[in-house]
Amino acid sequence: MSRIAYVNGRYLPQRDAAVHVEDRGYQFADGVYEVCEVRGGRLIDERRHIERLQRSLSELRIALPMSLAALGIVLHETVRRNRVRDGIVYLQITRGVAKRDHAFPVADTPPSVVVTASRIDPARTERVAAEGIAVVTLPDNRWDRVDIKSIALLPNVLAKQLAREQGAREAWFVAPDGTVTEGASSNAWIVTTGNEVVTRKADRSILRGITRTVLLDVLRAQGLILVERAFTVAEAIGAREAFITSASQTVMPVVRIDGQPVGNGAPGLIASALRADFHRHSEKS
Ligand code: PMP
Repeated sequence: MSRIAYVNGRYLPQRDAAVHVEDRGYQFADGVYEVCEVRGGRLIDERRHIERLQRSLSELRIALPMSLAALGIVLHETVRRNRVRDGIVYLQITRGVAKRDHAFPVADTPPSVVVTASRIDPARTERVAAEGIAVVTLPDNRWDRVDIKSIALLPNVLAKQLAREQGAREAWFVAPDGTVTEGASSNAWIVTTGNEVVTRKADRSILRGITRTVLLDVLRAQGLILVERAFTVAEAIGAREAFITSASQTVMPVVRIDGQPVGNGAPGLIASALRADFHRHSEKS
């Protein structure tokens, strides 16, 4: 079955789906995106993802090119047309098509909208979670507005490639003060030997992950203590547990950091319990 993409008002087979060569997303990475988990054919935490999308758009002064209701329909319709039961739906909005010029195009330039959906085998993700993943660390060389979910992801691309070349699945960015900011495509967490669950405060130095936000509810429900503060790489290596969160992986245990085992080198009990409980607290639509 050929995959279907939504592009500016039309559903097309992906091989026929294309954007203009002067789309500002293509030329300048001038756009934003969202990735929503699909589980059992339903979108997970769609409302929160759309809220964050609106914030990203507004920070970049890009208009929402359609009503929120229409956008919701497109997301669900793209999932339906691709028969995705488990996987992700990807949404990208750019500042549209205009003759190449760094400054914004004229105000009536319609933003471009692309939506795709892809399947992810949940059994495979579970197998990865049962083993836990390795991460590597590298200096955070991104701009100072990574709280905006922009499609400009070159540092993240290079970081992820470095991870892959070192046999790891994620890269953690490290600020000049030695603290971990976040992963190339995830938020970073540790569990201290005192059983405190620690993650960085969601200021401008990280993306406020939707999975992170929902996990705060899971923590509360499980009676766990949350501390929002920065932690160093050394602290993470010496921690009882470490894990990452993202829409496509929910809670993924980290068992190795820069080649060193975390805890006993196996997925932690708290991370595993949080993973098991996550979808009881997420919204489905
Ligand atoms: N940080 C970065 C840099 C990311 O790309 C992602 C994934 N979108 C996250 C954090 C996690 O966000 P979410 O839980 O909303 O997927």
